[in-house]
Amino acid sequence: MFGVYAPGQDVARMTAFGLQALQHRGQESAGIAVGNGKTVLIHKDLGLVDQVFTEETLSHLDGDLAIGHTRYSTAGGGGWTAAQPHISAIDDELIALAHNGTLVDTLPQRAWLANEGVQLYGYTDSEVAARTIGVDTRRAGHIRAGIRLMMQQLHGAYAIVLATPTALYAFRDPNGIRPLSLGKLPDGGGWVVASESCGLDAIGAVFVRDVEPGEIVKVSASGFESEQGIEPARRASCIFEYVYFARPDSVLDGDVVYHARRRMGRILAREAPVDADYVLGVPDSGVPPALGYAAESGLEYCDGIVKNRYIGRTFIQPTQEMRQMGIRMKLNPLPSVIAGKRLAVIDDSIVRGNTSKQLVAMLRQAGAREVHLRIVSPEVMWPCFYGIDTDTRDQLISANMTHDEACAYIGCDSLAFISLEGLKSAVHSVHDGYCDACFSGDYPVPVPE
Ligand code: SF4
Repeated sequence: MFGVYAPGQDVARMTAFGLQALQHRGQESAGIAVGNGKTVLIHKDLGLVDQVFTEETLSHLDGDLAIGHTRYSTAGGGGWTAAQPHISAIDDELIALAHNGTLVDTLPQRAWLANEGVQLYGYTDSEVAARTIGVDTRRAGHIRAGIRLMMQQLHGAYAIVLATPTALYAFRDPNGIRPLSLGKLPDGGGWVVASESCGLDAIGAVFVRDVEPGEIVKVSASGFESEQGIEPARRASCIFEYVYFARPDSVLDGDVVYHARRRMGRILAREAPVDADYVLGVPDSGVPPALGYAAESGLEYCDGIVKNRYIGRTFIQPTQEMRQMGIRMKLNPLPSVIAGKRLAVIDDSIVRGNTSKQLVAMLRQAGAREVHLRIVSPEVMWPCFYGIDTDTRDQLISANMTHDEACAYIGCDSLAFISLEGLKSAVHSVHDGYCDACFSGDYPVPVPE
């Protein structure tokens, strides 16, 4: 998710660049909406950013400000109608909204909207947010007041960018669950917001700070404005962003993801040592912790698994079939490196167990003598309701098998996970309030039964 306010510049192209840097956050659809002073124009479709946007489509998106989104569906399914930004009208003014995260329990709000005479056209929580802002804005008389009311009515994880014809808004849920970075273009050229700081880097913007939990920022011809839309609640930034989701070159809440991952590897090496010939990292997110594990243990690191860079991340493909196909096409072991060797294989997480099972089988086929899996997240025991698709509890291997059963199912010689305390101590952000519900079951925002 990305937003830029930069009158006189090619805001659509800047947004396309920003979205490409954030492509890892969603690969089902991409969209850009621009505000041109009079109205909001949009182009969106299913596919990756460079499939959806051509020179021609970008040239039609002329404006002073833009927002963009790449989608990875967790609530409301996939398909074209769920692609974002979501467009709606407040009286005769169009607004576009792009949302990262998941709102919990939107059913009462849907009923409330129906009562207000608002018809919903899709099933996404983002449409509920946009329509709620519409009703609240009519009631309050100003869109910022409308956003404030929405923040009181809806709960869950949201980092949202919103474009009107003349202004860019960005706001974040009171727990700060999903990240949102704020940056500035050089020479007073404008303001930028992005889900991760790597999106700012992509267009040469300088990181200023994170948008604070519960904060609303607005950028328009009147300049930059900020207000506290809702009181901050218990700080609960998603710790899984550091483990898996975010890009290693991003800075989240003051810590560089790459360094956090290396520290995770070091801590895991102390918590779960193993006698091995080589340490391997499962690309991409397993590589920095593998380097940390090797440095701490004194074992040699080697690149024994090669990744096809043109295959999407398996975990965020929408169906099980696609996920399985993706795994086989994505990773290939190097037999000349690993044959006859005892391997400590470092991976970011085990959710369903399918990737690990196929990976271990591939390593054994390539001649590995022993495969010891070391995981830099604790066991995923609970589903995420805040924007990461870990599905239901019955799909989580750790929630349904004992440690020994999981090890046997995956086919490895040994299996160990970092402790939750170890993981938390590896992340050096400016606060110490994390959501760790998928490991602990302690949900910071109540989830209905
Ligand atoms: S439940 Fe897990 S994945 Fe979801 S927000 Fe919390 S820490 Fe992140």
